Amino acid sequence: MPTILTHAAVPLLLGAAAGKRAISPRLLAAGAIAAMLPDADVLAFKFGVAYADTFGHRGATHSIGMALALGMVAALAYRPLRSTPWRTFLFVGLAALSHPLLDALTDGGLGVALAWPFSSERLFFPWRPIAVSPIGARFFSARGLVVLGSELKWVWLPCALAAFAVWLARRGARPEATARVP
Ligand SMILES: [Zn+2]
Repeated sequence: MPTILTHAAVPLLLGAAAGKRAISPRLLAAGAIAAMLPDADVLAFKFGVAYADTFGHRGATHSIGMALALGMVAALAYRPLRSTPWRTFLFVGLAALSHPLLDALTDGGLGVALAWPFSSERLFFPWRPIAVSPIGARFFSARGLVVLGSELKWVWLPCALAAFAVWLARRGARPEATARVP
C-alpha cells in the first residue's frame, strides 16, 4: 500500500476542491474512510490468513466489487451524509476504488484482486512508479523516506494539481465572482 494517509488524501484533496456545496464535509469524511478501509484487511494476518489468500491482504477488499458495495452502503446513508444517493454512491465508490488502483501502481508485494468475486487473480498495472510502503512501516527509517518521497511525487502532487484545476474551474464558473466587481 501507499501509506494510509496517502490513500485518504486522494478523495480529501479532490472532494475539498469541488467545494462544500458539491461534497459536504460529512461526505468528504466518508470518502476518506472508504479510501483507507480496504487496508483493514491486514487484520486478517492476525487470524492466520495468508497474504495470497482471497481474503488476505490486497485480496477481495481491494476489488471493484467491494468498491461498488461500499458505495451502495454509503448511498443508503445519503441523508446523514448531507448529499444525494447518486452523489454519495459515486464519491464513496470512487474513493474506495482509488485504493486498489493506487496499490496496483506500487512496486512491491502482491497485486490486487481487482476482479473479485469473478477472479481472485492478483493484478498490477504494467507501470509501477510508487515505492511500496512496507506493512507496519516505520516512517522515519531510510525506507520510510523513500516511500514518502515517492508518494509525494506520484500521488500528492498530481492530486494537488488536479484539485487546483478543479478549484480554478469553479472560480471561473461562479457567476457572482465577476458580478460582484463594482
Ligand atoms: Zn491496500
